[in-house]
Formats: sequence, C-alpha cells, structure tokens
Amino acid sequence: MTTSVEETMVIIVGAGLSGLSTAASLHKLTIPYIILEREDCIASLFNKKAYDRLHLHLAKQYCQLAHMPFPSNYPTYVSRNDFLKYLEDYASHFNIKPKFGNFVNFAKYDEDRKIWKVEAKVVGDQVQCYEARFLVVATGENCDAFIPEVDGLSEFNGEVIHSTEYKSGKAYENKTVLVVGAGNSGMEIALDLANYGAKTSIIVRSPVHILSRWSINFGLMLLKFLPLHLVDSLLVLLSKLMYGDLTKYGIRRPKEGPVLIKIRDGKYPVINVGTVKKIKSHEIQVLPAMKSIKGKGNEVVFENGKCHQFDTILFATGFKRSTHLWLQGGDDLLKEDGYPKQMYPNQWKGENGLFCVGLARRGLNTVAMEAQNIAHHISNLIN
Ligand SMILES: Cc1cc2nc3c(=O)[nH]c(=O)nc-3n(C[C@H](O)[C@H](O)[C@H](O)COP(=O)(O)OP(=O)(O)OC[C@H]3O[C@@H](n4cnc5c(N)ncnc54)[C@H](O)[C@@H]3O)c2cc1C
Repeated sequence: MTTSVEETMVIIVGAGLSGLSTAASLHKLTIPYIILEREDCIASLFNKKAYDRLHLHLAKQYCQLAHMPFPSNYPTYVSRNDFLKYLEDYASHFNIKPKFGNFVNFAKYDEDRKIWKVEAKVVGDQVQCYEARFLVVATGENCDAFIPEVDGLSEFNGEVIHSTEYKSGKAYENKTVLVVGAGNSGMEIALDLANYGAKTSIIVRSPVHILSRWSINFGLMLLKFLPLHLVDSLLVLLSKLMYGDLTKYGIRRPKEGPVLIKIRDGKYPVINVGTVKKIKSHEIQVLPAMKSIKGKGNEVVFENGKCHQFDTILFATGFKRSTHLWLQGGDDLLKEDGYPKQMYPNQWKGENGLFCVGLARRGLNTVAMEAQNIAHHISNLIN
C-alpha cells in the first residue's frame, strides 16, 4: 500500500556517519533534505552491530564528521560509547532528524520530470514515496553481513554467528571458538574471546599486514608529504621491527604494501591491539582455510587435512553492499558490487544529481570532505 509523496531537494539514503556528515553539510548551506534510515537509530553499525570493547582504529583527527571536531577531552582512540555520544550531539547540533524505519527498496531517475523517485518500505506492508532533485547514496561499505558458503555448514550443531552479532567474550569462557577471518574485527574479537578464557582459534587464510595503531597514524600523516610506495616501505619495516617474522605462527606478509592494498582492493591492514602477543603465546591458535564441516559432530575440516571440534563458529568475513537491489540507473556511478566506478578523488559524483559518500575505501578519513564536496556541488547547481 502506498501513501502520499513527500518532496524535498535532496534525499540521503542511510543515517550512518556518511549520511550524518552530508546532512550537516547541507544544513550549513540551508539546503532542504530528507534522510532515510532502515533502522531505528543513527549510526546503526556502531550502535547495534559492534562489539563492546571497540575503539575507533584510527586516531580521532581522522574520524571526525564534517564541521564538528571531537571534544578536546576525548582520548586519541575514541571508545564506542564516546563515539556514540559524539554522534548524538552531532545530530542534535545540526538538527538532523532521520526518518527511521524507512527501508529504501527502489530509486529511479524520472527523465521527464528531472527528479529522483524513491520508495521505502515502512511499517507493515506500507510503502512511502519520496521525490527530490538530488539523491545521495550513503548506505556504507559495510551494508549487509556476509557469510561465505561452506560445505556442511547447515549441519553444524553448535552456534554460528556473524561478527555483527558479537558483543563480548563473557558468554564464551572455556568454550572452543573458531573465528573465521583475520581482518580488524576478527583479530580483535579473537583477542576479546581469549581474554575471557575461550579456547580461541582464528583462520588466517591470506597474507595480511599487521601494523600498530601508532604506525598506521604515522603513515597517514606521512602520506601528505611522501609518495605512497615510500610510506608503504616504511610501514612494512616498522611492522617487521615490531612483530618480527610471523610465518612460523601461520601469518604471512603480502608482497605489496598496506596502503596500496587498502586503496586498490579496499582491504584494511590489521591494527594490532594485542592479538599478536596472544598468538605468540599460543593462547590464540592460527589455523589455515576451512574446507568443510563434517557430519553432526561439530567438527571442522581444514585445508591441511586436520579436523578440530568447536562450540561456536564466528564469521568475521565482512560485508556486502546491496545498492544494486534498489538503485536503478546509477550504473554511471556504482559498479555491481556497490563500489564507485571512478577512483578517489573522483568517485562521489554521478549523472542526474546522483552522488555517493563513504564508499571510497578510505574509512572515515575522507567522509567529511566528500560530504562537503557534495553539499557545495548541489548548492552551485541550485544557484
Ligand atoms: C567494527 C568496525 C569498526 C570500524 N572502525 C573504523 C574506524 O576506526 N575508522 C574508520 O575510518 N572506519 C572504521 N570502520 C569502517 C566503518 O564502517 C566506516 O568508516 C563507517 O561506518 C562508514 O559510515 P557510513 O555512513 O558510510 O556507513 P554505515 O555506518 O554502514 O551507515 C550506513 C547506513 O545506511 C543504512 N542503510 C543501508 N541500506 C539502507 C537502505 N536500503 N535503506 C535505508 N537505510 C539503509 C544502514 O542501516 C546504516 O545505518 C569500522 C567498521 C566496523 C565494522
């Protein structure tokens, strides 16, 4: 059932950090907008889908939203709770009032009327329609949880969860837990589990760069003055000095540098918050890729032919984007996988007043700038 049509100048889809930054930037230029969010809160990824011990991986100067720095008394690495408090203050300061419970499932440009038509599923079977001259996609790189297909997984008798459902290791004391995926979430959750006394294993399938918090922030600062390959060489050297050769623990370093891999493939280096120490002391066991799940005995078979039993398998296997399911005619801006066609810094602008923010594979570091670019561009077009 469809209700009336609401009109505005700009529709932003997603009230995460990118959507909030864009809203604030439009507000500053007094451009009317509507922000649509499927969940019932702002920044749902940090509000509902993050673990308790999470701190922002990057120093606070790289994570602040547009037009409002973090309070000066905040520590360099902001905790999840402090971050949520900052975001609430941010929304209230810029009078951002998202329309919650609006799950956008259709958006199309009307060539005749030169407007974007957007439909969102609201309570029950209701559909709410919106129209605007401009559309901003701010649905995030981490839109939907992704669990890969594993032979026999549906037969597994124990618990199977995604990292977005994990809060803390409290409930896992003495349990055998397999963490699948050695990105930042997987490595930190493995540490949390081990700290709470879980018998923790982690699958490290591909080579991975492990850096300290300090060195990644040093690298980000150096990128302003030095070419990428030099920063990469320095970061690898620092990693070797700090952690040594980890191959005997099952962890290999990629041949290419961490910044290059981040920009080209969107893969973050792992920022070590204590996991390496636990791996070296064998409190966390590193395992190779998983092959299948065997029968009903909670037994996982690995690529080296060995089998181990687990109470829980936790998939820290990342996310997928689903823009292709609802955005029609945005092919000039986004690829099938939801990432922009153009490389940074030209990735944010499509045709017919279509924009994206937060998809540049550079974390929060560039979100504020992208949001301001979009707002200024829209302002120029209007005027
Ligand atoms: C555990 C974790 C820690 C991280 N830490 C850092 C960090 O320290 N520094 C950093 O730079 N980055 C970090 N990241 C990366 C982080 O995801 C992004 O930097 C940040 O969330 C991007 O914000 P966003 O608004 O683009 O996307 P999101 O925060 O994912 O927001 C997108 C919003 O869009 C909504 N949405 C999606 N689809 C629809 C739809 N169809 N209709 C309506 N609404 C929709 C979602 O519900 C969501 O609220 C971290 C990620 C994770 C998972």
